[in-house]
Amino acid sequence: MEDRVTRSIVESYTQKLSHHLASDAVIVGAGPSGLVAASLLARRGRKVALFERSLAPGGGMWGGGMLMSRIPFQAELLPFLEEIGVRHTLKEGLLVVDSIEMTAALIQRATHDGTALFTCQSVEDLHLRRGRVAGVVVNWSPVVKAGLPVDPLVVSARVVLDSTGHPADLVKTLVRKNNITLSTPSGGVEGERSLEMEEGERAVVEATKEVFPGLFVSGMAANAVFGFARMGPIFGGMLLSGIKAAELMDASLAKGEA
Ligand SMILES: Cc1cc2nc3c(=O)[nH]c(=O)nc-3n(C[C@H](O)[C@H](O)[C@H](O)COP(=O)(O)OP(=O)(O)OC[C@H]3O[C@@H](n4cnc5c(N)ncnc54)[C@H](O)[C@@H]3O)c2cc1C
Repeated sequence: MEDRVTRSIVESYTQKLSHHLASDAVIVGAGPSGLVAASLLARRGRKVALFERSLAPGGGMWGGGMLMSRIPFQAELLPFLEEIGVRHTLKEGLLVVDSIEMTAALIQRATHDGTALFTCQSVEDLHLRRGRVAGVVVNWSPVVKAGLPVDPLVVSARVVLDSTGHPADLVKTLVRKNNITLSTPSGGVEGERSLEMEEGERAVVEATKEVFPGLFVSGMAANAVFGFARMGPIFGGMLLSGIKAAELMDASLAKGEA
């Protein structure tokens, strides 16, 4: 029994990892925007690997506003909430949902749609080839945290999404390590601005785009890269950003196939 249990875990996990070593899309960060993007790309038949450095996916969505497990969405998100089967109440013209139910639903949807979700794995660098992002450099999070001198592995991808939230980890690493110019006003990372809800919600969708060949950005990382406002605990923009990221990445993949 013991051997069978161990073998079932080791063999099925390595099979999953091995199958995704060359993915269509690699998504970094399993917050709301990354989960939504992963789900839609997988639904379109793309091979999607999603790397999350924490043990639990979900990013900053679990805690709601100030640890009160409630998050509001704009009324236009009603069809999305109904599609994923999350219950809501109407308050102040907003759809209010339980943050735990919502986060669990997004994780369930992404994995059920075929996303390979790898937790406790940190993306620490990008792989560049001929002036284009061609993959990510990954290591176990506990190894990174302990500062152990252990070489990472490379997972190649035709498109990569930075959905790492406020830190915009991947874009900042790209800029720091390489003499490159982004498609931002200054050519570098502009930095997130102070809270302004309507502006932040509008901007997060606008800023969801390809920031360097092969590298897309979504969610709070998009606002940080393009210098837009944070929006506080309203989450419609995060879902719309994930939807837009998936559409742009899918179009880029299709263009490469034409
Ligand atoms: C301190 C703090 C402040 C917040 N302030 C705001 C705010 O002003 N406005 C707002 O709308 N929301 C805020 N939030 C709530 C929430 O984070 C966001 O609204 C929302 O969750 C952002 O979604 P996202 O998709 O951009 O990514 P996030 O939910 O932030 O998720 C990003 C995920 O990426 C993972 N990750 C990061 N780097 C790596 C890496 N190198 N490799 C692998 N995984 C990685 C993280 O572990 C995390 O799970 C805040 C949350 C926190 C914790």
